[in-house]
Amino acid sequence: MTLIFASIEKHYTNEKKTLMLRQANIISINLFVNGFINDPSNTFVIDSIGKIVHGQIIVLDSRGIVIYDSNNLEIGKLYATEEALLSLQGQTKFYVNELKVGTVYTPVVDDKQDKVLGAIIITSSMEDIYNAIENMRSMSITLLFAIILLILVISYYFSGIITNPFKKLIHSINKITDGHIDKRVTIEGSYEIQQIGQAINHMTERLNEIDDSRQEFVANVSHELKTPLTSVNVLAESLLLQENVPEELYKEFLTDITNEINRETNIINDLLTLVKLDKKEYKLNIESVQLNELIELTLKRLKPLADMKNIEMIFESFREVTAEIDKTKITLAITNLVENAIKYNKEYGWIKVKLNSNYENAYISVKDSGVGIPKDIGDKIFQRFYRVDKARTRETGGTGLGLAIAQKAILMHHGWIKCDSEFSKGTTFTLSLPLKYYSNM
Ligand code: ADP
Repeated sequence: MTLIFASIEKHYTNEKKTLMLRQANIISINLFVNGFINDPSNTFVIDSIGKIVHGQIIVLDSRGIVIYDSNNLEIGKLYATEEALLSLQGQTKFYVNELKVGTVYTPVVDDKQDKVLGAIIITSSMEDIYNAIENMRSMSITLLFAIILLILVISYYFSGIITNPFKKLIHSINKITDGHIDKRVTIEGSYEIQQIGQAINHMTERLNEIDDSRQEFVANVSHELKTPLTSVNVLAESLLLQENVPEELYKEFLTDITNEINRETNIINDLLTLVKLDKKEYKLNIESVQLNELIELTLKRLKPLADMKNIEMIFESFREVTAEIDKTKITLAITNLVENAIKYNKEYGWIKVKLNSNYENAYISVKDSGVGIPKDIGDKIFQRFYRVDKARTRETGGTGLGLAIAQKAILMHHGWIKCDSEFSKGTTFTLSLPLKYYSNM
């Protein structure tokens, strides 16, 4: 800023200097032409120029004696300053003193004789320049403050536009964190903020869904655990309320009570298995396993169960398949599928288990000739406690957790499981397992 004003000041001072020199030149030429130096009484031209100059004009003769002074103060005196002497020697000088007065000294030269006839001194105040610069300086300071103020107001306004949606977003997130999970974020602000808002809303919806299914699961667990206990209670009470109960009835009721207790134990065991698999830190015990052997052994173990219903079990293996798996978990999954194929099959039915692979995955399918599953049920079959026919499951002693456990175990291996079924004709469960285990996708 100071630099700018210094250069403006320099510029105007130079302009003034040029003007004063020009004026001095005009006077000098006129004086020479009109022979003023020789005849100082002829002051018409110099007086006319003096009116334009706005300052003092002094004319010296060749000796330095004042022969003209526009203020009429110095006439006849010797003007013996250093600058005056220099101009009488033919030099032109310009000075500005501390009182901001500019003075130009210029010689009056007779060009033909190459002789200095005298000198002209023009003194003019530079105050107008300094005042103009001062005005400019105060105006620009005011302008600068106005601009700074404007910038502050604009940036405050714009920062508000940017930060307000964020503030609202944080407020909504805090509300959701405080437990108001039904609250949704208002979608506003720039495109990116809107995207964040939408992502938060989707996340909240998902959390709501998870919370709903958790509540449903807790309700299901309570119901499932209560049912056998209610049966036990009813059976025991009916025995207590009757007098002279025959021993056979005691035995029958106690057998029922034992069955209900076994059912309860099965549910608790399955729940514990699921809870264990659900744990994030649960580590699979991965080893290289020959799936042909694993399936054969599983079928051998389940043969007595199948024989009870005269069900024929066929194992069809297309090749030797070895995969990196947790043997216990995959045995559990296949056991659950084959057990279901027996449970939901008809007498003299059949079960076909097929094993195949490509260079990446193993494929296992369990096909039965059983009751089938209605088409509209779809993937709900894998939900915890979901049963197509509650009454039938009770007969078969299922917990409603077998498929959930099987699916969980397979997903943990980064595989998949699907169900194809034709109602009252039969069901096929197909699963795929990567041959090589990788800990994370
Ligand atoms: P459950 O202990 O009741 O068998 P699952 O989770 O193993 O529980 O199976 C869930 C439901 O899916 C069963 O109640 C049954 O209705 C149906 N289901 C499972 N496997 C079969 C199958 N092979 N054929 C027909 N229905 C099946």
